[in-house]
Amino acid sequence: MTLAGDHIGTLAVHAGHAPEDHLGAAVPPLYQSVTFVAPDSDTLEAINDGRQRGYVYSRIRNPTVLAAEQRLAALEGAQSAVLFASGMAAVAGALDPFLKAGDELVALPDIYGGTLRYFSEILPQRGIDVRWARSLDATDVAACVSPRTKIIYAETPTNPLVRIVDLPALAQLAVQASAMLVVDGTLGGPLNQKPLDLGTHLLIHSGSKYLNGHGDVLAGAVVGSRDLTRRVRSAQQASGAVMDPHAAWLLMRGMATYELRMQRHNATGLAVARFLEQHGAVRKVHFPGLASHPDHQLALQQMSGFGGLISFEVADAQAARRVVDRTRLFGIGPSIGGIESLISQPGNTSHHSVPPQRRLEMGITPGLVRISVGIEDARDLVADLAQALEATE
Ligand SMILES: *Cc1c(COP(=O)(O)O)cnc(C)c1O
Repeated sequence: MTLAGDHIGTLAVHAGHAPEDHLGAAVPPLYQSVTFVAPDSDTLEAINDGRQRGYVYSRIRNPTVLAAEQRLAALEGAQSAVLFASGMAAVAGALDPFLKAGDELVALPDIYGGTLRYFSEILPQRGIDVRWARSLDATDVAACVSPRTKIIYAETPTNPLVRIVDLPALAQLAVQASAMLVVDGTLGGPLNQKPLDLGTHLLIHSGSKYLNGHGDVLAGAVVGSRDLTRRVRSAQQASGAVMDPHAAWLLMRGMATYELRMQRHNATGLAVARFLEQHGAVRKVHFPGLASHPDHQLALQQMSGFGGLISFEVADAQAARRVVDRTRLFGIGPSIGGIESLISQPGNTSHHSVPPQRRLEMGITPGLVRISVGIEDARDLVADLAQALEATE
């Protein structure tokens, strides 16, 4: 399909769907069918051989999933996207085809709890060594790279401290080592950052977060060049962690409002972070849009918005618990990037499975509170946090 406009807001609404191919349907139809029947054996054979475009079985290809993949690829300005059943399936799906026993993966610290678990429980079982860089700094990453390094793995922005990773520096390291740079960019999203333009080979999203945005779909994606995603897709067809068509349909609807939602998250995130920064009971605010953040300059170079994830520190674990329990608009729970605001203590949600000592090393202090700012009115969110923080002063 050719599009009259190629700005992200336009692509979000139109990419991946041509009404004329679907009886004029303005909204992409949902092909909730496992099997597609062929008119005759010759056609089936031609489709199976790749001589003719068509559909046979939805683990291999489904029109609704394909449409959502095209929309996401357009948003990222990428050649191709592969959707998965969840973000974690996408993490595994991006790495597994490129790693064999004896290989090394160099990981940056400060990554999503589920990914940490995958790296410490699953990859070592397969004979893959995971080497942890001492910090997010490229020189510390370089110190871990060896001739066996196949992948450098980073997340940016990170969760929960919202650190920003220097992608061009890591991309250079990867090229020097003949390795791939794989980045989980879930917390940025295509409006705020374009990791593929900065040398990332494969970009991972948990679509359960900002991309879908409505908190009603588990989704994952791997985005990149046609060559690399072909290997990802082939492995996925074999192992089966594909996205269900209904989930893809919901994700496609979620992506249609992606730009609008993200603009709101960006504006409200900044307003809430500024409020927290001047509050007497708050010792520290982690938000890259603030000049006080250690990665503020890097964030300005690499990002065009900072999202709605904010962490802040109050006196201790009890004070943090009080704030969490006293908020009314913020639901107590994990996850990020939905239209509704959420609050949690990373120590007992996203990083629950991380040993306490390791948590401290990662900077996850007992008094840390994480919020995901939704799309509610910023004034109401600030008022809610103000009354919740009163008790801790
Ligand atoms: C949520 C999340 C994941 C995992 O995604 P699921 O869809 O929950 O499997 C991976 N990485 C990051 C950064 C996340 O926030």
